[in-house]
Amino acid sequence: MNADRLARLRYLVMLWISGCIALGAVTWACFALRCGMATTSFIYLMVIVLLSFLDSFVSSTVFSIFCAGCLNYFFTAPLFSFRVAHTQDFLALATFLITSHAITALVRHTRRLGEAQREQARLLDLTHDTILVTDMTRVISYWNRGAEELYGWKREEAIGKVAHQLLQTIFPVALDDINEQLSRTGRWEGELVHTKRDGSKVVVASRWSLQRSESGRPLATLVTNNDISERRRAEDELRRSQAEYLAEAQRLSLTGSFGWRVSNGELFWSDQSFRIFGYDPEITPSREMVLQRTHPDDVARVKQLFEQAATTGRDFDFQHRLLSPDGSIKHLHVVAHAVIDEQGSHKFVGAIQDITAATLADEQLREAQTELARMSRVMALGELSASIAHEVNQPLAAIVTSGAACLRWLGHATPQPDEVRACVQNMMANGKRAGEIVRRIRTLTKRDTPQKMRLGLNEVVTEVASLVQHQVLTHRVKLRVKLACGLPRLAADRIELQQVILNLVINGIQAIDETDDGLRELLIETRQDEDGWVVVAVQDSGPGIKAENVNHLFDPFFTTKSDGMGMGLSICRSIIEAHGGRVWASSHAARGAVFQCSLPALGESDLTEPARCR
Ligand code: ADP
Repeated sequence: MNADRLARLRYLVMLWISGCIALGAVTWACFALRCGMATTSFIYLMVIVLLSFLDSFVSSTVFSIFCAGCLNYFFTAPLFSFRVAHTQDFLALATFLITSHAITALVRHTRRLGEAQREQARLLDLTHDTILVTDMTRVISYWNRGAEELYGWKREEAIGKVAHQLLQTIFPVALDDINEQLSRTGRWEGELVHTKRDGSKVVVASRWSLQRSESGRPLATLVTNNDISERRRAEDELRRSQAEYLAEAQRLSLTGSFGWRVSNGELFWSDQSFRIFGYDPEITPSREMVLQRTHPDDVARVKQLFEQAATTGRDFDFQHRLLSPDGSIKHLHVVAHAVIDEQGSHKFVGAIQDITAATLADEQLREAQTELARMSRVMALGELSASIAHEVNQPLAAIVTSGAACLRWLGHATPQPDEVRACVQNMMANGKRAGEIVRRIRTLTKRDTPQKMRLGLNEVVTEVASLVQHQVLTHRVKLRVKLACGLPRLAADRIELQQVILNLVINGIQAIDETDDGLRELLIETRQDEDGWVVVAVQDSGPGIKAENVNHLFDPFFTTKSDGMGMGLSICRSIIEAHGGRVWASSHAARGAVFQCSLPALGESDLTEPARCR
């Protein structure tokens, strides 16, 4: 048996003994004083009520029966017998039993109610939430332990006070509006600021529920408050630190942000935006301030872009320059997204990035690449000098031959003007051809910025093939050219494209030189791929590409040759990429390597040289 049950048993034994003694004493006293049955019944009832406050329904019922027995034995005729002589006595005894039973049940019910209320109050005290109940005039009628702990006032100090006066409540909206919502929906939720007993402020999330009588009359309001001051502080702290991080990130990335309300021209700048434009953050930014700092050559364009954005309400993205008062130039990239704000008016939210460093680096890189491309052309020309000599020699030899023939025709007894004319025309045509070859070589070595024009890939490949004729002969390479018909034209710089194919062909010839076996083949092929792009592929019968090199071929200065510079393929790639294309290399399934370039096409067919394709 556990301790609780033992204590309960002890209590019951004590109660029963003292109950029996008390009832015995009452019986003796009433008998001795010759009290009537009515008086004794009344005294018994008093004792039973007292005893039922002390314990359960069962013991009170047992005491009632005991009292009824005593009434019958000692106070009802015939005395000292359980018999009942008169009917009215029988009725009196029954009334006593029923009354005592009813009183016992009533007491029990009251006790249970009290216990339930005490339990509920205990539960409400257990919660950490602050719970209070106010009547309809906002006077506090209940104040739990959570409220005592949060606000510092004891229950007895708080009860009877007007809640919002005691707590100096700051409401987010008027109290009348809260009352109105409460009576309409039965609920209200919101954040309140209260002042504690020690004068400090506390922010609470407050939930109000209206309690109504069965007839629907409002009785009281149950208020539950949660202290959210800590959370609020943490949120504020987070917001502050996020703002700091953002400002730091903007400073590091040289990116400022801005907002622009089109309707009233209102402009908002982040600190970094002020820094970029070189203005004091105290000044209110305006469109005029932007234009004032814009480079004079860009002002008209920027103005037009502003106006266009304001009228169309579309996102914008542009680059322009700033001219600072100290004469330095900044390059900016501005991107903005159009949004509609709460009032339904147009707004732009955007970023301004200072791209000066990147732009200058880009310019330098472009210059370096152009210089490298020129150097590489000069070097390729060195390789080609023999080929050039061969090319120029041919028309020169033809001119000499035609000149000799011309002289012969003139020395005839009967001059033959038609033959002489044909010889002279032949000489002129060959002279032109030599001149064209010289012009082409000059353009190859000239330092030029790329000049894109509409051209056919087949045409460029044919030119390169004729340039490398001599090289091919001396290296005993069998060159095959396979041109696709109806290729679309493309926009490209002729010289640069020639240079790319030339580099690939010379690399192919050098690769073939590395192998000793009989097969010395080089194939230049053009085609159109499934995306409609034009492709040129240069395939050789050399040793192919080693797996470990495949990812480095296009890196600048990557070479496996003792006298190589490793710039050829890297320049090829930068040229092709500048044309919006792609270049890649792979080992051919059978043997050797394939280098391929694909370039976007213009969508019109190359009908200029139909004879070249097959
Ligand atoms: P370089 O010819 O001066 O070495 P490139 O950039 O033209 O510079 O070529 C880089 C490297 O790519 C070469 O050294 C070679 O190893 C490899 N390569 C180029 N073309 C071929 C080819 N057709 N077959 C095998 N390897 C090649």
